[in-house]
Amino acid sequence: MTTMLKADEGLMTLPSDQDATGRTLGAEELANLAEAIESGTLTTTKGTFGKRLEEAFAKKVGVDHAYALTSGSSAIHVALGAVNPNPGEEVITTSVTDMGALSPIVYQGAIPVFAEVDPKTLNVTAETIEEKISDRTRAIIVTHLFGNPCKMNEIMELARSKGIPVIEDAAQSFLASVDGEMVGSIGDVGCFSFQQGKHMTTGEGGIVTSSDPDLARRMFLHINKAWGYGDSNPDHYFLALNYRMSELQAAVALAQLDKLDGCVETRIQNADRLSELVGDIDGIETPVIEEDARHVYWRYCLTIDDSKIKDGGVGMAAILKEKNIFTAPRYIQKPSFMCQVFQEKNTFGESGFPFNLARPEAIDYRSEAYPMTVKGLNDILVMPFNEMFTEKHIEYVAKHVRLAAEALRVN
Ligand SMILES: *Cc1c(COP(=O)(O)O)cnc(C)c1O
Repeated sequence: MTTMLKADEGLMTLPSDQDATGRTLGAEELANLAEAIESGTLTTTKGTFGKRLEEAFAKKVGVDHAYALTSGSSAIHVALGAVNPNPGEEVITTSVTDMGALSPIVYQGAIPVFAEVDPKTLNVTAETIEEKISDRTRAIIVTHLFGNPCKMNEIMELARSKGIPVIEDAAQSFLASVDGEMVGSIGDVGCFSFQQGKHMTTGEGGIVTSSDPDLARRMFLHINKAWGYGDSNPDHYFLALNYRMSELQAAVALAQLDKLDGCVETRIQNADRLSELVGDIDGIETPVIEEDARHVYWRYCLTIDDSKIKDGGVGMAAILKEKNIFTAPRYIQKPSFMCQVFQEKNTFGESGFPFNLARPEAIDYRSEAYPMTVKGLNDILVMPFNEMFTEKHIEYVAKHVRLAAEALRVN
């Protein structure tokens, strides 16, 4: 096979976003943490870090309001709480996303209606969303998957024409933009996650953004048990949990936010370099990005043509693993709606709620109904990627991608 790369070839260990090798956590976060602890105030209702984070983040994304909270999942939950659907009303979402973007729909008593995706980007489009719109549609959630923005101009045009609010799941797409507008500011609400592996992290955490005063107000309340902080006659106005971030997380997030531009720039440079190095390999396609879009590469994904490369992404992954390159063929393995929670309607006791209220067409949760999703997941290979990758890591990955493709070449 590949004689020049035998035993003398050292294995490289790639930086991991699950520990210090692939993260930028350091002195700045520690200094903020010390300040927070010494202040003795660890709740963001009284401290300053939460407020500073919210102001700085809103400014960065270009919105009027940002509210920090406990996770990307709670971000989606409060966004839906703000929209406030009636039980059985529908929320259009994507067949390829994190469960944290889906379970909140069900908790709010709404029906997740899954839109197909473009198999090249695994993103929903205006066309795939439009197919799913009904007179019960109360919201659209778009996920900018892997940091690659959806075609927001067309999606917003469609949504506006129908009067349906758009929630952007920007958990993977910090500082991504379309026509120079930041994701999280294009729809009515933006949702971000600070989970360990995201562009900026507090271990667990998140933030919501909006310039709509009514939605912003309801999200603020939803984070705070719907208690009217600062009102002359406050009460618990509606059903809501405590989703508040602590000052400890906010202290870390504020330091991380300062590093976000650098993180994104490095990722884009590395991605461009990787595309340059593997772009000519027959059977492998580099990321497809819309004109006017800025992809921020939460993950760098290749599309593998299994008619040219034996066993496609799965075959590539097995070879790359031997070189310490841990990839994820098929990303989430199966369309989101194939998970047990949806297949078995494991929700509230034996009730089947809210699915018992659904139109049958809205809950057609079968892979056969989603050929583009199946194709997209089949072809995708998610590469390891983070801001601590250097030129030598990129060259190492590129070399082994080329060798794996050659080893599996279908003649
Ligand atoms: C990470 C992620 C979430 C959930 O965020 P958590 O902080 O893990 O709750 C939601 N949507 C997408 C697209 C994500 O990547």
